[in-house]
Amino acid sequence: SIPLNHPALLKQGVAWLAGEWVGADSGATLTIKNPATGATIAEAPLMGRAETERAIAAAAVAQKQWRALTAKERSARLKTWFALIMQHQDDLARILTAEQGKPLAEARGEIAYGASFIEWFAEEAKRVYGEVIPAPQGDRRLVVLKQPIGVTAAITPWNFPTAMITRKAAPALAAGCSMIVKPAEQTPLSAFALAVLAEEAGIPGGVFQVITGDPVQIGGAICESPVVTKLSFTGSTEVGRILMRQSADTIKKLSLELGGNAPFIVFDDADLDAAVEGAIASKYRNAGQTCVCANRLFVQDGVFDAFAQKLADRVAELQVGDGFAEGVTQGPLIDAAALAKVESHVGDAIAKGARLVTGGKPHALGGTFYEPTVLADVSPEAMVFREETFGPVAPLFRFKTDDEVIELANRTEFGLASYFFSRDIGRIWRVAEALEYGMVGVNTGIFSNEVAPFGGVKQSGLGREGSHHGIDEYLEIKYVAMAGL
Ligand code: ADP
Repeated sequence: SIPLNHPALLKQGVAWLAGEWVGADSGATLTIKNPATGATIAEAPLMGRAETERAIAAAAVAQKQWRALTAKERSARLKTWFALIMQHQDDLARILTAEQGKPLAEARGEIAYGASFIEWFAEEAKRVYGEVIPAPQGDRRLVVLKQPIGVTAAITPWNFPTAMITRKAAPALAAGCSMIVKPAEQTPLSAFALAVLAEEAGIPGGVFQVITGDPVQIGGAICESPVVTKLSFTGSTEVGRILMRQSADTIKKLSLELGGNAPFIVFDDADLDAAVEGAIASKYRNAGQTCVCANRLFVQDGVFDAFAQKLADRVAELQVGDGFAEGVTQGPLIDAAALAKVESHVGDAIAKGARLVTGGKPHALGGTFYEPTVLADVSPEAMVFREETFGPVAPLFRFKTDDEVIELANRTEFGLASYFFSRDIGRIWRVAEALEYGMVGVNTGIFSNEVAPFGGVKQSGLGREGSHHGIDEYLEIKYVAMAGL
């Protein structure tokens, strides 16, 4: 159904378990649908506890051999994987758009972005340095080794079906760990395609596995296993809490990349055109379905009306439609529940006094398409102030002073991404330091890349992905004290 140059990238009814493409023990499947059309694309196995336990056993055996390779050898296989992904970028993007809905150009961007983590960590694999510590006794030598943490697992969301996997698997494999991936039920096909290319790159079957099925059973088996020493999760804060609780009995090391509630502040000295472009990129990318999307736009009184008008004019240029169609810049929402949440946030904001500037209803295309929307003079009492909308809705809040907006921006349990626009160097430093967020974009709406540490503070999560910090999540520190020398 999807035209591909490498048809084997699209898997039907099988997952990558212990080096074999197999169905679920029960034969049951999940149906994968195109969110733009509702058409069925493929089936994926509905696996559970038993298959997960087999994957863990295979991962344990494979990890011992994988860690025994030199870092240079692991690096070479990762570089091959990277090259294959880029070689098949168009096919991978088509699979991604078909199951996730984002415009094809954005999907191609995600493949390149996702692949960049594999290239980066292939390089970092060779730079896992230990330490020698000057000893307090003359006959001693104190050494610090960094060793792979072991068998790891990843549970990933549907909004970036490729990149949320490579961001975890690349540092894990580079460090000498094996990894079992459970992608989201909505978007497993991109994950399987990555596994096809991993195998072609010479990455052994048990080292990188992809299994699909019942999240509660698979997640339960992973959390309870003492063999799995590390779990990396990207998804909702609610599920993050469940996984953290379930991991307590085995004291599993966790990386959690959870929800956000990103403030996007436009000060009166900002370059308004740049701020509008930043808002478009941050708010409407992936139809507003990213954890770093601007959720609350705070605009200073003096520029509020001008910014609202410029943003509305620019939003009117967005083209809503099927991600495969030429010129489309905003695809459908992932499912009916996502649409219902957007509708309830907009209705609630208007009921609490917000003014509709543009959009504000489901798109004439039907399905889960929603009009790109701008709301002005939204009340901090509105639901959109507290919860991530995860849709193409920009709520504008009016503010007067720097202290006021910093308090408003930090008034949330979340702390992932934040953004602000200003040209005053003193203000830039003050505000960047005062925002309680893991990431701050100054005069930009896009800042994520493989060389920088991505992650949140407060209830947005634990750990960092990307950058030289990213590989530490998959390494243990071992202290070796040598005496009597
Ligand atoms: P979203 O709201 O973005 O779908 P979720 O946190 O529900 O976010 O989903 C992210 C990932 O977590 C998906 O792979 C999903 O299957 C998985 N997941 C959901 N519930 C559980 C659970 N109870 N245990 C383990 N994984 C889960």
